[in-house]
Amino acid sequence: MKSSLSHIATDILHFILPRRCIVCGRRLAEGERHLCINCLGSLPRTRFHLSSPNIMEQMFWGRINIQRATALFYYQGEETRTVLHNLKYYDNPDVSRHLGMVMAEEAIESDFFNYIDAIVPVPLHSRKERKRGYNQCKYLAEGLSEVTGIKVIDHEVVRTVNTKTQTHLNKDERWENVQDIFTVNRRSKVIPACRHILIIDDVVTTGSTLISLAKAIEAVNPDVRFSVLSLAFASEYRYAKENDSDSSISS
Ligand SMILES: [Zn+2]
Repeated sequence: MKSSLSHIATDILHFILPRRCIVCGRRLAEGERHLCINCLGSLPRTRFHLSSPNIMEQMFWGRINIQRATALFYYQGEETRTVLHNLKYYDNPDVSRHLGMVMAEEAIESDFFNYIDAIVPVPLHSRKERKRGYNQCKYLAEGLSEVTGIKVIDHEVVRTVNTKTQTHLNKDERWENVQDIFTVNRRSKVIPACRHILIIDDVVTTGSTLISLAKAIEAVNPDVRFSVLSLAFASEYRYAKENDSDSSISS
């Protein structure tokens, strides 16, 4: 009863305040969520889940035991910037959950999720999470989990250092900025037992944050393998071109 009442309330709210696409602002049709079908379809897909090895996987070679890496779309152009901005700054974690589902639905057509034991979203520092009210990567992971059925482990790794923005740092500075910023809880039970962990991030640029997180996990589980899935991938070349004056990309 309670849920049908809340559905009615939601419908009334949508009637008064029509839902609009977060990218183009067009009124959403029934069945569309957060993005209209045109904007969702026009995000520039990487389709890395269908091509291994790929340039995203190569970033991790020799650094961690990487299996697969993919991103839904390239960080390229105003539309992708708007989507990423929406994950963090409009107090709407359901956008992240929905896009997590979209990522999963597109990658599940391949063998990308085979043999993965658990999903670990990149943690935010507790102060930043309190300020924002949520961790967008956690909601991406929840959407992914809803489609794949793979469990999310979000309380066994913590971010112990609240890093400054990565946006204007070069590759070496980025690595120094994020080294040793994650710790696996001493009482962690799942992470030491996993053979293959999927790390989730909203945007991957140099991979330094993910490598740092993977190193913290390796400290308690040296044999674990990693795959990486992010919403957006900004290769350095694209990043330099796209991001001259932008500060919205860092987490
Ligand atoms: Zn749209």
